[in-house]
Amino acid sequence: MIKEEYDLIIIGAGFCGLIIGQSLTQSSFNFKIFEKSKAYGGRAATRRVLGQSVDHGLQYFIPQNREFATWMQVYLEQGLIKLWANQFHEWKPNQQGLVLEEKSKTYYACPTGMTSLMKELAKVLPISREIKIISAERDFEENIWILQTDQKIEIKAKQIICTAPLEQSLDLFKNYLSSEEELALSKIEYNSALMGIFAFEFDQIPPPEWKGIICSEHEIFSWISHDSSKRDNPNQLILVVQCKPEFSQQNFNESEEIILEKIEQALKSVMPNFNYQLKEKQLKKWLYAEPIEGLNKPFMSIIENSLILCGDWCFASRLEGSFLSAKAVTEHLLSK
Ligand SMILES: Cc1cc2nc3c(=O)[nH]c(=O)nc-3n(C[C@H](O)[C@H](O)[C@H](O)COP(=O)(O)OP(=O)(O)OC[C@H]3O[C@@H](n4cnc5c(N)ncnc54)[C@H](O)[C@@H]3O)c2cc1C
Repeated sequence: MIKEEYDLIIIGAGFCGLIIGQSLTQSSFNFKIFEKSKAYGGRAATRRVLGQSVDHGLQYFIPQNREFATWMQVYLEQGLIKLWANQFHEWKPNQQGLVLEEKSKTYYACPTGMTSLMKELAKVLPISREIKIISAERDFEENIWILQTDQKIEIKAKQIICTAPLEQSLDLFKNYLSSEEELALSKIEYNSALMGIFAFEFDQIPPPEWKGIICSEHEIFSWISHDSSKRDNPNQLILVVQCKPEFSQQNFNESEEIILEKIEQALKSVMPNFNYQLKEKQLKKWLYAEPIEGLNKPFMSIIENSLILCGDWCFASRLEGSFLSAKAVTEHLLSK
């Protein structure tokens, strides 16, 4: 059994954990981030399909908060973030073809995939990947947390910040919550999401001009992304189709083959004249995709501040919500 000791442990190298890490690098905290997956970024996830990057989690972000917009600036200058679109299209059941979204917005994305931004953030941080925290116990006499991992490492930490989706945080820490805390958190639920990834040949016909289709009125789809339009030199036409929460939940335990077949058939009804030749299809299932309702405060502090639960579920406002939660946590830590 390997034993390690830290002042502070961050569980999760998703965007929230990475932003907290980034904000603590200049501090005197002896901290370490533990991430169960091989990749950085959590739900800001990219995979390679036929050699091309495809975002199968986080799709884009619209900066609204000034601090977030300022933070982004460095990565915009580096070219890791780019303005992707000003207007998406909308699918309307009773209209022929697609209509332009009414108001223009600023949709940002990463030309080399969301993961590349996460890798950049992770570059200078102390992170151990592929190590899952499987249990946490509080030693009330020593005022210390003792964590066990799936790699047989025992970690002692004075303070823990857990950025995992709430359900997963509760698996670890539920026993340490007061009944009021439990009640406040019981209201937070997540939507699940099925994501269909479809790669087509586009040698013969130029790619479509639209970048995204909002499908609010569609039975199965929430949104269709022309993912390859985010890339600088795409060699495939790749669409990512995000299914509605109801459809995702109902079909979550179906086989990949059946789900992909249903998505493919529905895709034909949205785009009847889509004449590209399909080369590859893949599926990603997200059990905890996006929180429906937030806590409406940036984090929850438990047992005299020794445990902080945070992440996008605090505000339920997606990537930016995760950023705001992370920033509030670091401000809180640094003010002590
Ligand atoms: C399909 C999909 C589409 C989306 N589209 C958009 C969009 O277009 N715009 C937008 O703004 N947002 C979007 N989002 C939401 C956005 O991706 C999230 O809000 C954001 O990435 C959350 O970051 P986080 O760090 O709070 O959580 P996460 O990304 O979930 O990070 C938590 C991390 O903790 C790790 N972890 C969990 N448990 C443990 C453990 N026991 N031990 C070690 N590590 C652990 C996980 O592996 C993960 O890396 C989308 C999400 C999904 C799934």
